[in-house]
Amino acid sequence: MNPVDKPGKTGALMPVEDALRQLLDMAEAAPIREQEVLPLAECDGRVLAQDMVSTLDLPPWPNSAMDGYAVRLADWTGEPLVVSQRIFAGAAPQPLALGTCARIFTGAPVPEGADCVEMQENAEVHADERVSFTQPLHVGQNIRPQGQETTVGERVLSAGTRLGPIELGLAASLGHDCLSIVRRVRVGVLSTGDELIEPGLPLGPGQIYNSNRRVLCSWLERLGCDVIDAGILPDDLEQTRTRLAGLGHVDLILSTGGVSVGEADFLGIALREEGELALWKLAIKPGKPLTFGHFRGVPVIGLPGNPASTLVTFALLARPYLLRRQGVAEVEPLRFEVPAGFTWPKPGNRREYLRGRIEQGRAIIYRNQSSGVLRSAAWAQGLVEVLEGTTLEMGDRVNFIPLSEVLN
Ligand code: AMP
Ligand code: MG
Repeated sequence: MNPVDKPGKTGALMPVEDALRQLLDMAEAAPIREQEVLPLAECDGRVLAQDMVSTLDLPPWPNSAMDGYAVRLADWTGEPLVVSQRIFAGAAPQPLALGTCARIFTGAPVPEGADCVEMQENAEVHADERVSFTQPLHVGQNIRPQGQETTVGERVLSAGTRLGPIELGLAASLGHDCLSIVRRVRVGVLSTGDELIEPGLPLGPGQIYNSNRRVLCSWLERLGCDVIDAGILPDDLEQTRTRLAGLGHVDLILSTGGVSVGEADFLGIALREEGELALWKLAIKPGKPLTFGHFRGVPVIGLPGNPASTLVTFALLARPYLLRRQGVAEVEPLRFEVPAGFTWPKPGNRREYLRGRIEQGRAIIYRNQSSGVLRSAAWAQGLVEVLEGTTLEMGDRVNFIPLSEVLN
């Protein structure tokens, strides 16, 4: 990667990380504090509101990691041992009788007095049913000690953790049937543009179907938000005012379109009249223009309308903002370095998020990276990040952000 030193070239544009920092600061200033207690089955995708503290040792008692025999090491002299009990998972064993061993199965409690478990593959059962062992035994072998996963009083998950199948399984393993979670964030979605109509209707001259609405509403639902789908907003100041005013009960108004330079910016006018407005020109491609403001106290994020721009700015800016509103600490997607399977001869003044895939260990990119082409993202597995002011040769390292990291 060859950084090209052109001071001032990105001067007018705001770096992506600055925009993210400002958005996260604003999210932290307006946290969602209300909590609800819900059964585990309803907590998937939601955010934990209180630390999850263990009320148990896990496992609650030492148990066997193998099917085999539980032994007191000192009793094993090479003389075959009598099997004094059989211990299945779910059983409550007797203390191990002196000079004997116990048949034991995976997950069963290790009897008091036993200090190792030998797997059945290393045991020999004689004609008289006594057992001897073919390998040396060691104290503690094949025993999962009490509390190896967690002990009483330990914080297992912190408030602000996003819950998925694994976290819910962990809660279940600790015996929790309900959790305190942050209430859903209410997001009002507006698609601006006189050219938009909904699928299902015949396409008139100059019209296109509204795709952003579907992208955002489905995505927000996956994110655990309460989506208030406010439909299409025509490019008209009066209707913009009315529609924004109708969304006074939401935590965020998320709109697309109408933020490009040169166009009648009704969203901006309405925000200026009845709230405040920041118009950002970001060093990001696709997705340069972004609006952040408030309308009568309700936060508003205006994403650019081109479908790939909407996707990239939602993934990298609006999604982290929404998660942070719920107290989530880890809001940025995982990104990892891969060798580029393409060249990038011309350095740009914006950070590019190319729709790409990994093939044979290298990032390749969709042939048409136009911000209007949503198909590029359907083809892609992730976003390939090319930093501003850099060129790439084949094999140079680039960051790759899997779409699976952000689409939930
Ligand atoms: P704008 O940001 O309003 O200037 O829109 C930029 C481009 O995105 C234009 O070509 C719009 O037609 C298109 N666009 C805006 N909103 C949507 C939408 N909801 N669905 C599909 N395309 C859109
Ligand atoms: Mg428009």
